Amino acid sequence: MTFEELKELDSQYVVQSYGRNPIAIDHGQGAALYDVEGREYIDFASGIGVLSVGTANSKWQSAITEQVGKLGHISNLFYTEPYIRLAEKLCTRSGMASAFFGNSGAEGNEGIIKLARKYSWEKYGEGRGTIITLNRSFHGRTITTLAATGQDVFHQYFFPFTEGFRRADPNIDSVQQVAGDDVCAILVELVQGEGGVLPLDPDFVQALANLCADRDWLFLVDEVQTGIGRTGSLFCFQQYGIQPDAVSFAKGIAGGLPMGGFLVNEKCKKVFGPGDHASTFGGNPVSAAAACAVLDILDDETITQVKEKGEYLRNAIEALNLPCLGKTRGMGLMIGAEVAEGVSNKELCAKLNQAGLLSLTAGPGLRFLPPLTITKDEMDKGLAILKATLS
Ligand SMILES: *Cc1c(COP(=O)(O)O)cnc(C)c1O
Repeated sequence: MTFEELKELDSQYVVQSYGRNPIAIDHGQGAALYDVEGREYIDFASGIGVLSVGTANSKWQSAITEQVGKLGHISNLFYTEPYIRLAEKLCTRSGMASAFFGNSGAEGNEGIIKLARKYSWEKYGEGRGTIITLNRSFHGRTITTLAATGQDVFHQYFFPFTEGFRRADPNIDSVQQVAGDDVCAILVELVQGEGGVLPLDPDFVQALANLCADRDWLFLVDEVQTGIGRTGSLFCFQQYGIQPDAVSFAKGIAGGLPMGGFLVNEKCKKVFGPGDHASTFGGNPVSAAAACAVLDILDDETITQVKEKGEYLRNAIEALNLPCLGKTRGMGLMIGAEVAEGVSNKELCAKLNQAGLLSLTAGPGLRFLPPLTITKDEMDKGLAILKATLS
């Protein structure tokens, strides 16, 4: 079908909840994507941080096709090898104790919110169910994860939201001001993604870890966007020198197939017992086989290169001295670029997409999340489009 035919059918039959670009992607290879008319795009978006090993990676493909030919689904009332191998890989490389698998980032966050409340209930009883989250955070689109999200634009129409969330600014004084006897946990993104690629200050994160230890709050980290190598370590918390009680993950974990979930430490390993939490598709063998392949591809060496690639891209973007862009920030291949006063980030992003460089916005700026396996050639191609389009 042509783009015009697809657009027409979409508007007729699909809920119009997305502001889509006028582009219909058909296929791709690595960090190059092609639309239905055969035009090439360089991928600086990875879906939204999902295509961690690029498009159509051959190891990822064979892991999936092999598993599909054996077993596509069985309920969690039975053991299967892929999710068990995946849990072992994730725990071994993160220092966490055990894993739970679901299907999305929001579901992973819902899980760690439930975990914190049950941990606290069993130890302290009722009345200690409040979770502190940060302004400008993003934790998902379900009613509860929206309640946890610290951006007012998302808090319209959908009342009533779930109770038990309190917001603070990303500094320890602000957190202490909202800290009451009813608190059981704090939930943060170490680099706020949707909020504008805003890394938390390491001293603040250390102070949070201390506060959590003092008050027996669970330290919950949302690594849905920062996890699985994106920032230059398997999980971002490993660069902050902390060990959270629970970490959610999703986006990049299965390289494009739906999967999310969370990891817990030794202290929280026994909080959920049989019947406390579940997900029909959780740990699906095909998604889990894909995720095992992703973790094998993203070995320590490849993840170290993520830091180098990130430096290269950031320096190159700043060296272009584009009049419409300001400073860059971020960690690894999670890069934010400020836009100049009076410039619309949405318009810039649409222009880049049209010109053949798939990009994202975040907060008031631009955001680049290329595949972690992107090559130097692909980065240079993308930079050339950036230069030609925004000069
Ligand atoms: C994308 C994102 C989510 C939501 O993930 P879904 O898979 O869309 O539910 C939650 N937290 C963060 C930090 C995210 O970037």
